[in-house]
Amino acid sequence: MEDSNFIKDLTSFLQEKGLIWGPEPEIYGGLAGFHSYGPLGKLLKNKVENNIRRVFQSNNLWELEAPLIMPEIVWKASGHMNFADSFLQCSKCGSINKIDRGQENKRLKCVSCNTELTGKLKSHNLMMKTEVGGVTAYLRPETATVTYLPFRRYHTFFRKKIPLGVFQIGKAFRNEISPRQSVIRGREFTQAEGQIFIDPKEKNNWSQYEEVKKTKLNLMPKKSQKEEKITLEEAVKKEHIKTKAYAWCLWLAHKQFVSTGIPESSIRLRQHLDEERAFYAEDAWDIEIKTRSFGWIEVCGVHDRTDYDLKQHQQYSKQSMECSREDGSKFIPHILEIAFGTDRPVFVLLDTFYEKKLKEEGKTMFKVPYHMAPIEVSIFPLLKKDKLPEKALEIKEILEKEFVLEYDESGSIGRRYLRSAEQGTPYAITVDHESLKKDDVTLRDRDTEKQIRVKINDLKEVLKKLINKEIELKDLGKYI
Ligand SMILES: [Zn+2]
Repeated sequence: MEDSNFIKDLTSFLQEKGLIWGPEPEIYGGLAGFHSYGPLGKLLKNKVENNIRRVFQSNNLWELEAPLIMPEIVWKASGHMNFADSFLQCSKCGSINKIDRGQENKRLKCVSCNTELTGKLKSHNLMMKTEVGGVTAYLRPETATVTYLPFRRYHTFFRKKIPLGVFQIGKAFRNEISPRQSVIRGREFTQAEGQIFIDPKEKNNWSQYEEVKKTKLNLMPKKSQKEEKITLEEAVKKEHIKTKAYAWCLWLAHKQFVSTGIPESSIRLRQHLDEERAFYAEDAWDIEIKTRSFGWIEVCGVHDRTDYDLKQHQQYSKQSMECSREDGSKFIPHILEIAFGTDRPVFVLLDTFYEKKLKEEGKTMFKVPYHMAPIEVSIFPLLKKDKLPEKALEIKEILEKEFVLEYDESGSIGRRYLRSAEQGTPYAITVDHESLKKDDVTLRDRDTEKQIRVKINDLKEVLKKLINKEIELKDLGKYI
């Protein structure tokens, strides 16, 4: 459950280091559910989003961008006009308590005052309404629906070949009744959703499954509701997972998180119980990550949405969504969806890798995996004189085409190292008097605090390998 001391520490770290601010507008008292990413937070979010792009693209999903606002007809077709949260208001303190699907019949207590919640469940629509050119419209509450709308265009673009995969990273808006937990539950948030359109007959004929079926994952099937570390192949055999295509989607969703460096032991996949599954979903699993702030939190949903969406849009738009097989038979594709966002992964990285060392006074570290660090390299001239800044700026110019870096010439070198480690920067370059004679610099590793000298000509190559963990600093003998 919640660790309030840790949350307090982490929150002040996020604010002081320019990671996450808000709720905004802070200067006017703040409106819950709206946050800003400061300069360092935005760099981290970019890293997360680019990692998502890389993982999806290397698995043949194509990125697109669709509008944020759509007229009412779209949301009637998608079923979102009934997209609501259930809540109970506390009879003692008046707090609004959101009740998740599947929780309705349990005994529940108020999050603010712990009084038992009673009374009739009320519902609250989550969509934000607006008006465009005299027409009622809504801000999208997810990226999925707007990704499905141009299906006929994809079909042509992908030369009428099914399966096809697309994804979208972008903002979505939900009028959450009680937004809380920093950026975990915002009213404006960034989603990342992959959508795979598939012939329902091919769900168990999925070649990519063969490549990943030996992967072991922490699965929590609805039957046992216990964690089992088993291969996807075993899970399919035991019928925890219904189809091979779906099993592959679980693997891909899991890959999105392990590839950021979040430890596998903190990640589990939990199958929805029948009563919590959305009405259109044939199967649904969540990926959950263990955080220090809030315990296990949901970070991703994988859904077999069947032909629900395309059928609905076919009915409302009166445009055919059918595809043809080679034998001439017709079908409406099913959609397998990997639905997540980028705010939660950013928060999880901060929560997991933030370290406050109480023994060494004031020393805080952000031990984010090197390849996800907001800033990759710091460049420091040892002194602000003797032509050292000029030399350091030369190096900056060489490296800035390849790396996100920060140049800093003020304060003691020890203080600059400390600041660099607090920001999670894996490597610091120092330019000293010897650099002028020998054309080399010292390179300092954030975690081991070891330093070696590297020739300026080799820096680019060495840093690339170090940041991607292809080599370790201690193996760098030949560059010294
Ligand atoms: Zn209460």
